[in-house]
Amino acid sequence: MTRFAPSPTGYLHIGGLRTALYNYLWAKKNKGKFKLRIEDTDKKRHNKDAAKTIFEVFEWVGMEQDGDIEFQSKRGKIYQKCINQLLSEGKAYRCYKTKDELAHDREQAKTNKQTFRYDETWRPEYGKTLPDIPQDIKPAIRIKTKKLGEIILKDGVKGDIVFQAQEIDDFIIARDSGEPTYNFVAAIDDATMGISDILRGDDHISNTPKQLAVYEAMGFDKPIFFHIPMINNKNGKKLSKRDGATDVMDYKKQGYLPEALLNFLVRLGWSNGDQEIFSLDEMIKLFDPKNINSSSSSYNEEKLLWLNSFYIKQSNTKRLLEELKNFGTDIYDFEKKDEIINLCKQRANTILQLQQLVEDILNTPNNYDTKGVKKFINNNTIDMLYSFMQLLKKHKKNLNFPQEIEGVCVPFIKENNLKMPLFFQPIRLCLTGKTTAPSVYDIIWIIGIDEVIKRMKLAISLNFGSKI
Ligand code: GLU
Repeated sequence: MTRFAPSPTGYLHIGGLRTALYNYLWAKKNKGKFKLRIEDTDKKRHNKDAAKTIFEVFEWVGMEQDGDIEFQSKRGKIYQKCINQLLSEGKAYRCYKTKDELAHDREQAKTNKQTFRYDETWRPEYGKTLPDIPQDIKPAIRIKTKKLGEIILKDGVKGDIVFQAQEIDDFIIARDSGEPTYNFVAAIDDATMGISDILRGDDHISNTPKQLAVYEAMGFDKPIFFHIPMINNKNGKKLSKRDGATDVMDYKKQGYLPEALLNFLVRLGWSNGDQEIFSLDEMIKLFDPKNINSSSSSYNEEKLLWLNSFYIKQSNTKRLLEELKNFGTDIYDFEKKDEIINLCKQRANTILQLQQLVEDILNTPNNYDTKGVKKFINNNTIDMLYSFMQLLKKHKKNLNFPQEIEGVCVPFIKENNLKMPLFFQPIRLCLTGKTTAPSVYDIIWIIGIDEVIKRMKLAISLNFGSKI
């Protein structure tokens, strides 16, 4: 059983989705369960919409957790029971050191250039006399950690990581307010939820010995940990908003397909030979955390765009019509919807680009690319456009396919001794206002001869929006 345990930050970070994906794949591959737990113990950061944010992403990418979601904020009784157990077994104890005293000790350590350690005043030991319990001071609860030997984290990605036991303080498991602390509850949750395999960011390695201490004290079976290296930007620094979107839902807004994003993320830190394209089913079949890279991976936007364009090309018309509709372009009623989609999807890296390409063909342009006009429009081209319109009118009945349109254009180009761009670009400008649109034959075929002539006349009458 695996789990994804996001803290409620209000949005899901792209690295978080990768962690969720890896846990999901590993659970599904082993026919196990994938649980979702919202880590909202820290009340100040509690965010009611946290689960909603995660659901939204899961729904978009087609992942689903098994069973109910666990909220740490609703598991207080379990934590309390465990604290009581540890207290009664002598594996945890009450510490009456006040915050002020601890702050003072911390200052002292700083002055002496030492690492601060709890001085164990209240740690019960055989033969040791503890101070008198002060009145009016609420105690915090500390766990009694072992002081000798080593704590070995057998990490499935990084290999054995050794911590010296003495480095791990008797840390607080419940504050004087009674509120249990993060490393304690995380370990209790994982153990009581039956999580066997934990895949998470390697920023949690330093938490692990504390969590292992909780497992040990409670007598729980330990899970296997796989700590996944971070995603860095191209300069090897932690991925930040400056490098592009970090919020998963921004990728949706930017026109990425979920299968492209998942494919991108699965490869960002994991590989199966040199295979680049993975469907979700294939990921489930092939994923093994053994093959997670042990060094950090680098975010590469070009690769994501490449994958996205691949999946856009693979998508059928129905799917892309739906995607376009979600972006506000509804062309379900357009007669040549298949044709326009098939044409434009070859050139689109994102759904936003697809939308732009489709809109450029469907709509009469209301402005014309200035550079293009300067370069390609002059009196000669206007004459050429007039003759071309005559030609289209003449052959109108027989221009039902791109090949037939090409069949009249090619001789026209030859007869008029035209250089290719001087034929195609003025027409593209008339039809779309741009010089970067798809094949002219296809556009003419899709919008029809009457519309072509209408747009040409308009462009000429508007002087292509400029003084020629
Ligand atoms: N809540 C932690 C985070 O969002 C995850 C902790 C864990 O996976 O153990 O980073």
